[in-house]
Amino acid sequence: MKMHGNGHLHHIEDINYNENPFIVIWEVTRACQLKCVHCRADAQPVPDPRELTHEEGLKLIDDIYEMNNPMLVFTGGDCMMREDLFELADYAIKKGMRVSITPSATPNVTKEKMEKAKQVGLSRWAFSLDGPTPEIHDRFRRTPGSFELTIEKIKYLNELNMPLQINTVISRYNYDHLEEMAKLVADLKAVMWYIFLLVPTGRGQMNDCITPAEHEKVFLWLYELSKTAPYDIKTTAAQHYRRVVLQQKMREHKIKNGEIRYEDTITSDTASMIDGLKRAPKGVNDGNGFVFVSHIGDVMPSGLLPIVCGNVRETPLSKIYRESKVFKDLRQPDKYKGKCGVCEFRYVCGGSRARAYAVTGDYMESEPFCAYIPLAMRKKEKAPLS
Ligand code: SF4
Repeated sequence: MKMHGNGHLHHIEDINYNENPFIVIWEVTRACQLKCVHCRADAQPVPDPRELTHEEGLKLIDDIYEMNNPMLVFTGGDCMMREDLFELADYAIKKGMRVSITPSATPNVTKEKMEKAKQVGLSRWAFSLDGPTPEIHDRFRRTPGSFELTIEKIKYLNELNMPLQINTVISRYNYDHLEEMAKLVADLKAVMWYIFLLVPTGRGQMNDCITPAEHEKVFLWLYELSKTAPYDIKTTAAQHYRRVVLQQKMREHKIKNGEIRYEDTITSDTASMIDGLKRAPKGVNDGNGFVFVSHIGDVMPSGLLPIVCGNVRETPLSKIYRESKVFKDLRQPDKYKGKCGVCEFRYVCGGSRARAYAVTGDYMESEPFCAYIPLAMRKKEKAPLS
């Protein structure tokens, strides 16, 4: 059996997620003028007086940097509602950190602000577009005019030659329009299309989620798209996309199930070999390579898995990330319940812990929106009755 034998399987995969995250998301404010249907933050029109202060923000950035300099993303609310945003970004970037922002497309985002961001060196700008037309996008965002406003902001970004990332939540609202959406992302010259699969939390509702079979279809479609699209594709709350990619690659390389010596489990090394890609570091999941800090300093495994495990005002982020029980549990796929716990893909996939929590109330439960039946369960079904 031939596989990529380049011997360089240990780039960013070497980050030990028990010690340090790959990415830190900091909700710099919860203030936002929009009222999107799926909003995780239940955003408020004005900043909360308990928000982390400028000094606390600087201290947080120092702590984050000390955790082996992970990627830092400013999110909201609308980050533009935070007055010291560019000072915070400047401070982090001068330390050598990679910082990006995800502002809401409100009149707050001006061309001047974008120019300022460029000067400071913000590495990437992400805008949300959840449909290829004003009708679909605005309905999902519950904000008439949001589509036009977003397109206008993106044009500024293009004029300033700044790299654009488009974030899209896949749900009932846009499931039938993904082809048009993919084309729009290309037309807008995005360098990255970041796909979120709806997690039914906050304003995100169960009925708006697509079915497990539809998830499967989306993943297969995305994988084919990724071969030709002029932008990179990444997913979040869609850990099982990694499983689909690996399965497809195994098919393409004519590697049959059982032919790889993965001792019933696909590790990140096996995955890298099959994958041939180093871009996706070993299966980031909520609390496992990923950590979220709220506007008031609460630390959670992710914004979509809102269990508060500590507060940076009292405990350093690194201590919460490394030592809190919830975080430690989340990093043990062998302890996941149901099919995720026995699935051979549990180390590289593990299902969305956020969706498991949102649907069942237990963050260790199985991913409720995965159609795959693990090998171990199939073997069990076939075993003769004794
Ligand atoms: S059963 Fe769980 S671990 Fe296995 S592919 Fe599905 S979501 Fe991933």
